[in-house]
Amino acid sequence: MRAQRLPVTCPMPARIFCIANQKGGVGKTTTTVNLAAGLAKVGHRVLVVDLDPQGNATMGSGVDKRTLETSVYDVLLESATLADARHASPAGGYDIVGANRELSGAEVELVTLPGRERRLRCALAVVADDYDFVLVDCPPSLSLLTLNGLCAAHGVIVPMQCEYFALEGLSDLVNTIRQVHANLNPDLQIIGLLRVMFDPRITLQQQVSEQIKAHFGSKVFDTVIPRNVRLAEAPSYGQPGVVFDPAAKGAQAFVEFAREVSRRLGPVPAGPG
Ligand code: ADP
Ligand code: MG
Repeated sequence: MRAQRLPVTCPMPARIFCIANQKGGVGKTTTTVNLAAGLAKVGHRVLVVDLDPQGNATMGSGVDKRTLETSVYDVLLESATLADARHASPAGGYDIVGANRELSGAEVELVTLPGRERRLRCALAVVADDYDFVLVDCPPSLSLLTLNGLCAAHGVIVPMQCEYFALEGLSDLVNTIRQVHANLNPDLQIIGLLRVMFDPRITLQQQVSEQIKAHFGSKVFDTVIPRNVRLAEAPSYGQPGVVFDPAAKGAQAFVEFAREVSRRLGPVPAGPG
């Protein structure tokens, strides 16, 4: 249900989710761009915020990080508004605020500035009515950049591989989320864990998947994203996998995941009258 069908007296601000896990290479960016494209495909208005200086979500959305005139760096340093810094992803069907190497400097520059953890939150508040969902792709650390994401969000989606050490790394993230919840952002909660790069032929992965279910129960999304090479190939074409090869198993899983997120967490339809 798109927000524009709601009465104008009842604006439905965007649901803001961070895609976070302090490990690198676990599928955060792949989840961000494909969930964004999947949500766009099922009719939602979506904004992606790339908070990783590597700029992979930017490139994977078909926006060239090397030629960005305004990026999330400018938004955090308040030299541009979010409305000025956003670009349309040509293939993805969503908007994106890009990032590049310049963003790694923001970490240092922000330290002495007032409201250093709330900069993204303030910037997003201005455009929140333009979107149904905002997805923030976090860097692989629990840094001031990630903190800006967590302070701005309603919740966190945690992609994880079903590997032996997957649960161990999770406790740091869970502790950080608890601290942010207690001190900076009472709205923040773990929305859910998403099992990614899953290979059902590997017994260990099945076992860890069951452990994750047993431990986290309803906090685990029903959808499981399989390991699928088409998802890995798509970024070099500047497209989310969902758009690059819609028939591939990975793409279909992400569209199913978008439906699950929309069903569970999307804007609530207005009541009669
Ligand atoms: P992160 O953002 O956490 O560092 P990425 O999303 O960049 O992780 O994923 C790491 C690598 O794994 C990338 O090369 C990506 O293309 C690949 N990858 C991610 N998800 C899948 C998947 N479901 N199947 C195959 N390859 C994947
Ligand atoms: Mg990434």
